[in-house]
Amino acid sequence: MNKQKTPILIIYTGGTIGMISDPETGSLKPFNFEQIANMVPALKSFDYKLDSISFEIPIDSSDINIDVWIKIANIIKQNYDKYSGFVILHGTDTMSYSASALSFMLENLHKPVIFTGSQLPIETLRTDGKENLITAIEIAAAQKDGKPIVPEVCIYFENRLYRGNRTRKYNAEHFDAFESPNYPSLAKVGIHIKYNFEAIHYSDQNKVLNVHTKLNPNITILKLFPGITKESVEAILNTKNLKAVILESFGAGNGPTSEWFIKLLKDAIDKGIIILNISQCNAGSVDMGKYETSVKLIEIGVISGYDSTTESALTKLMYLLGKDLSDDEIKMYLITSISGEININREYY
Ligand code: ASP
Repeated sequence: MNKQKTPILIIYTGGTIGMISDPETGSLKPFNFEQIANMVPALKSFDYKLDSISFEIPIDSSDINIDVWIKIANIIKQNYDKYSGFVILHGTDTMSYSASALSFMLENLHKPVIFTGSQLPIETLRTDGKENLITAIEIAAAQKDGKPIVPEVCIYFENRLYRGNRTRKYNAEHFDAFESPNYPSLAKVGIHIKYNFEAIHYSDQNKVLNVHTKLNPNITILKLFPGITKESVEAILNTKNLKAVILESFGAGNGPTSEWFIKLLKDAIDKGIIILNISQCNAGSVDMGKYETSVKLIEIGVISGYDSTTESALTKLMYLLGKDLSDDEIKMYLITSISGEININREYY
């Protein structure tokens, strides 16, 4: 019997992995996918059917925007039935934003969508790109009992597989550029790929993929710092068409108790603007009410973002505000885990 090869689709968006240095300026700029394929002959030895779709103009991920997420989601939708898994080659700078966005846009996902990239271009001798790409493909193709092992939107980087919406890029120098401080890794890679089955989410098999491509960008981030002025806060909260604000607060969700600060936030909430409280700390959770400096925030209707990353909170708000939901429904979804992005059970820590 002719055993069918597992089909995997590689979507190349750009990023350092495929960059070459511009002879005129010396700075790195995106190049085409052929460059990558030629530099990794091992791709030809895989017992998988590897196809690729390359962005016509590959981009540095600092140029990523909502339209690019929609483009990636649509490519996956159009090719969903043809492939067992997807690998997305993407710049590291905003990879956590893109992986978070896709985790909400691809509802009822039953196939792996693995983001990866590299810190050094693939043409560089010491590149981390080859290992990242090869292992990401293996993970996208991995099956147990005929079913994908990791049917989630993930980031694979430097021997670790993470749930995408739990990650952040934390290091611009080291090969291990990503961390997932509030959720365990889904796999560790050494001689073997050791999957953490307990941490992997499996969607209800009876539900089919539902791709959401309406996102609302009218969101902003208000990062607190000691000495922040009324004028800055006012300017941010008066942003035209503003629908939601991520309040990047101190510690367990704390902020200044000054009357002017609370009043500005309350006025915004009364106007219908959603304020979501996310901690500036890498790890741990917002716990409003624990300190006096967050009691007022609960009273005026600030919503807890629990242990969410900013990347995940931002894209979740874009997704929820893009749907036809009432304010109460949006608030309810914000304190509910949609795609494994938050844990509201603090006993977990
Ligand atoms: N600036 C690059 C990008 O995000 C960095 C990288 O890929 O590592 O596209």
